[in-house]
Amino acid sequence: MTVIAEKPKAASRIAQALGQATLCRIGGIPVYYVRFNGQLLVIVSSAGHMFGPTTAVEGLPVTELKWEPLWSFERRSKHLRPYYEVLAKTLPGALTYISACDYDLEGSTICYKIIEAFGDLKRARRAKFSSLTAGELRRAFMNLGPLDVNNAMAGVARAELDWLWGINFSRLLMRAYRMTVGKRLSLSAGRVQTPTLAEAVRRWMGRNSYVPVPSLSLSAELEVDGVKFRARPDGWEPKTRAEAQAIVRDVKERGYMVTASYKSEEESIRPPPPFNLTDLQEEAARIYGLSPYRTQEIAEDLYLSALISYPRTESQRLPSDLDYKGVLTALARQREFSALVSDLLRETGGVLRPVEGPKRDPAHPAIYPTGETPREPLDKYHRAIYELIVRRFMAVFARPLVIARAEATLRDSAGRPWRASGQRVIRRGWTHYYPYVSLEEAQLPQLRIGQRADLVSASVRVVWPASGVRLSRLALLEWMESNDLGTKGTRARIIETLLRRGFLETKGRRAEVTELGYAVYKTLAAAAPELVSVELTRDFERKLELIVDGKLSRDAVVSEAKQYVSDLVRKYSQQIDVIGRRLAELAGAVRPARTCPICGRPASGELCELHELALKELNEKLDMIAERLGLSRSEALRAVANRRSTGVWARETAQYLLRKLK
Ligand SMILES: [Zn+2]
Repeated sequence: MTVIAEKPKAASRIAQALGQATLCRIGGIPVYYVRFNGQLLVIVSSAGHMFGPTTAVEGLPVTELKWEPLWSFERRSKHLRPYYEVLAKTLPGALTYISACDYDLEGSTICYKIIEAFGDLKRARRAKFSSLTAGELRRAFMNLGPLDVNNAMAGVARAELDWLWGINFSRLLMRAYRMTVGKRLSLSAGRVQTPTLAEAVRRWMGRNSYVPVPSLSLSAELEVDGVKFRARPDGWEPKTRAEAQAIVRDVKERGYMVTASYKSEEESIRPPPPFNLTDLQEEAARIYGLSPYRTQEIAEDLYLSALISYPRTESQRLPSDLDYKGVLTALARQREFSALVSDLLRETGGVLRPVEGPKRDPAHPAIYPTGETPREPLDKYHRAIYELIVRRFMAVFARPLVIARAEATLRDSAGRPWRASGQRVIRRGWTHYYPYVSLEEAQLPQLRIGQRADLVSASVRVVWPASGVRLSRLALLEWMESNDLGTKGTRARIIETLLRRGFLETKGRRAEVTELGYAVYKTLAAAAPELVSVELTRDFERKLELIVDGKLSRDAVVSEAKQYVSDLVRKYSQQIDVIGRRLAELAGAVRPARTCPICGRPASGELCELHELALKELNEKLDMIAERLGLSRSEALRAVANRRSTGVWARETAQYLLRKLK
């Protein structure tokens, strides 16, 4: 029997789990021999994908594709060749083939393609596991299932669809550019990539054209029995600065407010569910500033070291047959967790019932620590992610966090309601194990209705709110997930591709769209709106799901995609000169007929589209800002031009208008 693992490290884990393994090397690549359950197993490994679609056909449209070894046509896959040669030597003639790649579409595809090339699919079986611990691997190899052909077919179809989109529309863009400019420029479009770029552009436009409308934030500091607390308008807001200042005078003159209501209650907050990949990526970004892709890479390393279960999962549920106590006891062997484990076992009395979330995944449970101790010290971020997963796992068994919240309404002399609130932690509960939550405490004394609170101070502050539009790798990942674009394994990688291709760049945690990214988006949005929209991609994503369920065939989906792509390519080839011209102007390769006086981009009216957008925002909001702050229009313009929270283009446009006024 020949076992195919996805990566060398997994092969080594499998070999060690199944028995006394003998290691030998062929061309430097490890191959393991091990006797398990009365049979001799040969364990070989790939190094990720070994085959991929490619073509020898030039021109457009291209629909003829062949799966070839990646090393034969991709320079960055040269390292695969020795693995390929070992597979070619060891696989032919085996009695049984066991697919032991990660149990998901990609893993299933990797093994399927290898067995198809060198073995016999009719003699293939599947080993399914969610962690690389010895116990789970032995169980998986004792209970082999049939080869998961539907998963593999969905994976193959996904790869072929991505390839069809990528090659056809990238070629179309590059040809259009070359025809206009006479030079080559590497450009690309992708099935999931392009709608994601479009979303990034929408957010980029929203953020940079943003004009904040200030609010007048009133605040009063009050005191009862020596305890000071803060109150703010409850459900009302002064319309203008003058009105706000009058209220402050008024409140100060009276010197106190009167309690109209008071209530306090305990709130009990349950632990968050165990991690799925997205939740882990969100928390790692929030706490450590790690990109989703980096977090995924680290989690996959931890999985290959058998420290955690398989991270590419959507599930927020733990396996019901997992020995929770066994895992905790094993974790207690690591010094930094031993005290926490005894606290948890004491607090639960050993009755371990996890809190779980609503999300499920047919292939894998939520991410949990296996209990194994790292063999070597982990580096800083591996340590951090590992600890995050361990602590989250502990937290799901812990008691709720209990907070006492108090809330009071007080009235000023004109009867306007002001709200004061306080909060105090009564029991830390699960935050003892998962302390990455900020629990701000605020005092509020117990108040009787009618009781006076003395005024300490009152003030008004002009607050310019920041734009609520987020553009970061994490924000895009969350958007992709909520729109069902891509898979949990591929989303973070697609975002990295946008960065690598120079369509996005990052400044700290924030992402920006580059001129090239904008040029590609604009060109495609004008010429081929289908490619930019989410609907087309999502429609095919659903069809890929149906292949997994065995309700659609790979052939049907891929043929439909080929037809669709060819039709689109033919349609857009007719206007290739328009596409090329637009692309060249936006990419700055040819001079547009009219340019924006602010930035030099092609102008649509007086300004470029981006500054026009900012101008429209300014025009919509300027009167309101002027009235609220009691300013003239030009004073309001100056105020907006100098605010940090104003979007870049809105600031530039405001400065441009001010220059014109002079
Ligand atoms: Zn401009």
